[in-house]
Amino acid sequence: MDTLSSHMKTARVCFAAGFTVLASLAFFASRSDAKPESVSQILPGVWFREGDLKNLGHCNNTIIEMKDYLIVVDANFPSGARAAMADAKRVSSKPVKYVFDTHHHGDHAYGNAVWTQNGATTLAYKGVAEEMKRYEPKRWLEASRERKDVGDMKRPTAEPPKQTFDKSPFVLEDAGGRRVEFHYLGWAHTRGDGFVFLPKESVLCTGDAVVNGPYNYMADGNAGNWPNVVRAAKKFKPKYVLPGHGEPGGGEVLDGEERFMTAIHSAVKAEIGKGKKLTDLIEMKDNKPVSAKLTLPGNVKHWVGDFFPAQVQSVYEEIKQGKPSGEIGGGK
Ligand SMILES: [Zn+2]
Repeated sequence: MDTLSSHMKTARVCFAAGFTVLASLAFFASRSDAKPESVSQILPGVWFREGDLKNLGHCNNTIIEMKDYLIVVDANFPSGARAAMADAKRVSSKPVKYVFDTHHHGDHAYGNAVWTQNGATTLAYKGVAEEMKRYEPKRWLEASRERKDVGDMKRPTAEPPKQTFDKSPFVLEDAGGRRVEFHYLGWAHTRGDGFVFLPKESVLCTGDAVVNGPYNYMADGNAGNWPNVVRAAKKFKPKYVLPGHGEPGGGEVLDGEERFMTAIHSAVKAEIGKGKKLTDLIEMKDNKPVSAKLTLPGNVKHWVGDFFPAQVQSVYEEIKQGKPSGEIGGGK
């Protein structure tokens, strides 16, 4: 998409201008454009796999090397799981022991059974399993009809994570000296949002609570609380931010996500305050939002794209009904 790539270029120049740390600058300078379905090393023992969202619906994955095993962040769709598994084998001979679902969405969790069949334990914050109870098997059955890789699993529903935690953070550490923390910071994108933080390496994997580009799906979310979650994530002061969708970056990805969520919420709220109706803000066709009449400030345009009309609708309904968008669609 032309406009998207020009946004990304602009954003990249801005990122670079703000940097004083040469190492960070070198990290960005070494990256050209998006590299879907390829793996790059972020640091020794930490790899980022960029999923092809546009053509395959895949999310990004992070591969973390421990002394005797690997941790993979996100299960992906089944086809993405197989691709990430093959890439993990390419970068390390160690087995994948844990796969962390950052949330319950199909592009992050429907590959769970592929991993467990290959000996891994799927892991998540308990909210992920609870979200699956709310939304499945409906979404799994829909995806089974729409996607061959999901249909070919021949399962009646999504496989929930095998192991869950409710006290944040859950920590994995081993004799290799690497510490991996799994955090729940509140409800942003879903009620199960998990973050992965490597304190020594200053790496933060964000799932879809923070994305680098116009990929915020808000229907299961909590728009009003979303900036609070991003602010909690900013307290880690990560040098490397590895999002669920979009390219890897640094702290500016968190800043941008917070700015976007704050901007869309305050813009919609202001319009509601002026007595505007939903149809004054977006155009609907066949009961679906197709275009937006509302515009946001230029400093968030990297996060504004095809989802924007639906995002405006989610925020509008959330404010109007006085409860999170995810509760409107998914119940308590
Ligand atoms: Zn998602």
